Amino acid sequence: MTSTRAAREIDTSKPHSARMYDYYLGGKDHFEVDKLAAEATAQAFPAVYVAARENRAFMHRATRVLAREHGIRQWLDIGTGIPTEPNLHQVAQSVVPEARVVYADNDPLVLKYAERLMRSTAQGRTTYIEADVNDPASLIEAPELADILDFDQPVALSMNALMHFITDDQDPYGIVSRFLEVLPSGSALALSHCTPDFDPIAWGKITEIYTGAGTPVQFRTKKEVTRFFSGLNLIEPGVSVAHRWRPDTDPVDDPDSPSDAHVSLWVGVGIKP
Ligand code: SAH
Repeated sequence: MTSTRAAREIDTSKPHSARMYDYYLGGKDHFEVDKLAAEATAQAFPAVYVAARENRAFMHRATRVLAREHGIRQWLDIGTGIPTEPNLHQVAQSVVPEARVVYADNDPLVLKYAERLMRSTAQGRTTYIEADVNDPASLIEAPELADILDFDQPVALSMNALMHFITDDQDPYGIVSRFLEVLPSGSALALSHCTPDFDPIAWGKITEIYTGAGTPVQFRTKKEVTRFFSGLNLIEPGVSVAHRWRPDTDPVDDPDSPSDAHVSLWVGVGIKP
C-alpha cells in the first residue's frame, strides 16, 4: 500500500462523502456524524439507497463490458470509496484474470481499508494511491502507478460518483482531459454523476446538506455530464440514467425497476479514438 502524501488524520468531527456513501450501501465503515448527514440526505431524497446501489451496479456492468468487448485489461479508478465487494478489480478479474487496477481516493479512511483492494488473483495486480483528483500530475507521475499500469496499452479511467465533488471553479473538464490525454487510443472513460434533472427540489436540498457539511458539490445536467465525454466515442446506449445503461434485465420487463428520478445518475462510457 502506498501514499503519495503523508496520511492525514481521520476526521470524525464532520461527515465525509466516502463514509456517507458507505452508509447508503449498508456498510459498517462510517461514524455517527456520517450516519446523521446520510439520514438527512435520505429525508430529502428517500431513494438515495436505490441510487447508490444502481451506481455500483453500473460500475460492475461497465467494467464487464470494457473487459469483454473493448479489450480493456487495466483500470485507473479515481474516487474509489470505502471498499465494497465486489470491488472493481474483482469484477474485472472475473472476466480477465490478468486485469490490473490502480485505485485512488483522497479520504484517509479509504487508505485505512485499502488492503481489501489488494486481494487479487495470482495473475492480476492492484494498488492503492492516496491522491486528489484535483492534482492529475501527481497521480499520473506516481511511481506506484507506473509499477502497475502500462500507458502504451489502453487504460479505462473510471470516475464513478466523483466529479460532482469537483465544482466548476476547480476546472472539472480540464481535469478529466488531463488524464485522458496521457492515455493511448482505445482507452476509455467510464463515469457516473448525480443529476438534479429529475428532482431538482430534492437535489437542491442535498446540495445544501453536503455544502453545509464542508463538502461542496455540483450536480450536473445531462448536457453538462455529456461534456465530460468530449472527443470520445460514446458506446451504446450513450449517456443514460444508470439503470438504463446496458441493463442485465430489461427495465420494461422488471416490475422492481426504479424510476429515473429514483436513480438520478447520468452515466456513460466513451472510447478514445
Ligand atoms: N467510486 C465509488 C465511490 C463513490 S463515493 C462508487 O461509485 O461506488 C465518492 C468518492 O470520491 C469518495 O470515496 C470520496 O472520498 C472521493 N473523492 C471526493 N473528492 C475527491 C478528490 N478530490 N480526489 C479523490 N477522491 C475524491
